[in-house]
Amino acid sequence: MNFLIQASYFAAAVLFILGLKRMASPRTAASGIRWAGAGMVVAVLATFFYPDLHNVGLMVVGIVLGGGLAWASGKRVAMTDMPQMVALYNGMGGGAAGAIAAVELYSGNAVAHGTGIAALAVLGGVIGAVSFSGSGIAFAKLQGWMRKAWSMPMHHIINGIVFVFVVLIGIGLMTAEQPSPFWISVFFLLSLFLGLTITTPIGGADMPVVISLYNALTGLAVGFEGFVLGNAAMIIAGTVVGAAGSLLTLLMAKAMNRSLANVLFSGFGADDGTESDGPSGTMTSVEASDAAITMSYAAKVIIVPGYGMAVAQAQHKLWEFVQMLTKADVEVKFAIHPVAGRMPGHMNVLLAEAGVPYDMIFDLDEINEEFAQADAALVIGANDVVNPAARTNESSPIYGMPILNVDHAREVFVIKRGKGTGFSGVENELFFGENTQMVFGDAKDVCSGMVTGLKEL
Ligand code: NDP
Repeated sequence: MNFLIQASYFAAAVLFILGLKRMASPRTAASGIRWAGAGMVVAVLATFFYPDLHNVGLMVVGIVLGGGLAWASGKRVAMTDMPQMVALYNGMGGGAAGAIAAVELYSGNAVAHGTGIAALAVLGGVIGAVSFSGSGIAFAKLQGWMRKAWSMPMHHIINGIVFVFVVLIGIGLMTAEQPSPFWISVFFLLSLFLGLTITTPIGGADMPVVISLYNALTGLAVGFEGFVLGNAAMIIAGTVVGAAGSLLTLLMAKAMNRSLANVLFSGFGADDGTESDGPSGTMTSVEASDAAITMSYAAKVIIVPGYGMAVAQAQHKLWEFVQMLTKADVEVKFAIHPVAGRMPGHMNVLLAEAGVPYDMIFDLDEINEEFAQADAALVIGANDVVNPAARTNESSPIYGMPILNVDHAREVFVIKRGKGTGFSGVENELFFGENTQMVFGDAKDVCSGMVTGLKEL
């Protein structure tokens, strides 16, 4: 039986890895999710065949309840709320790893297997607990429940002291013959506290990096606890998630032009809630049909989609408009900022869904120089990723983040509903620029207006 269980875990691991590989391209991503899901089903089913399994009824209740809730919420969640969902699931994974560590430490199983296994239980426990509470804060920030960054007085010093305590207690737990329940509880409470206090000062603009970091940490914690339980599926799945999450974290940090230490310890990217002098001047606005007609006479138009396009689900109407432009011999390209929207690849997924060919879609590095040769840039529901304050204003929470150079285009059209700021809460001087014209309205309505404008031409 043991051979069959291990063989099933191996098959599950192969499915995880192949699934992850397929997720690398929008073309195959949906099937990648199904492959990885099938791997998870195989791993869970195989676990039921362990001899001497206890509490089977409780496990079934847990799976039905958890699976049912996840199914119902997964069906209902809006695409724009996906990052919160990811933060929540990260947190659950970290919490589950932390809970396994707690059970193994309280029961004495971890230390009974030697200091090495006890050390892995302790490491997985602290990482899982930090990931659990930190992801909870990330969820609250993304959900808009916690817009302002917050830090305690003497924040770094207190965090440093707590960290030293966690390390010392952790060493005590893994070397004790029978760890004391009191110190195990203190260890987990302090770890949870660290997760909270590390995350609260991090500003909205750096949230993409934080989410992917917690994703990596959760994978790592699960992998460590896999060693503690001797469970190959957990070791492989945890390692794969940890490695993929670490790479994504580095990519996101690079995209934001931040080092990881800077994101975690500087409180940079934080909106402290104080009012600052925003850009001044007047915004010029134009009707959707007039903007469309101007673009139809252009030689080259570059489109920058952002979070507002996702909210409005404007990608299909936008593609209809773009097809009309290309028929009128306008060269059209899409420019994608690495943190546009609310999750990595958000814009690529939406454009692919609307049928935009991949060869029209370009990353920041590939296209940024081309704005200077474009007759028009069309910004649709993007804000932070085109904010010149990132280049010029050293006190801005987004200073240093590379942005798309839309202001270098001859003319800029910006579609948004009103004068709202972007995710980072920073005003945008682009909207007051001499070559900028605002097209106010919901992105989908404006795209419909642009299509009608061209039809009536
Ligand atoms: P922003 O969030 O900066 O701006 C979106 C703009 O869209 C707003 O200014 C809003 O203005 C407008 N908008 C909202 N709804 C509509 C609508 N229905 N129709 C038209 N416009 C609308 O988006 P960006 O994509 O530029 O930047 C992404 C931000 O999100 C970055 O700060 C990034 O760090 C952060 N982030 C990214 C994640 C990722 O992984 N990609 C994860 C978490 C955060 P108005 O209200 O006036 O309409």
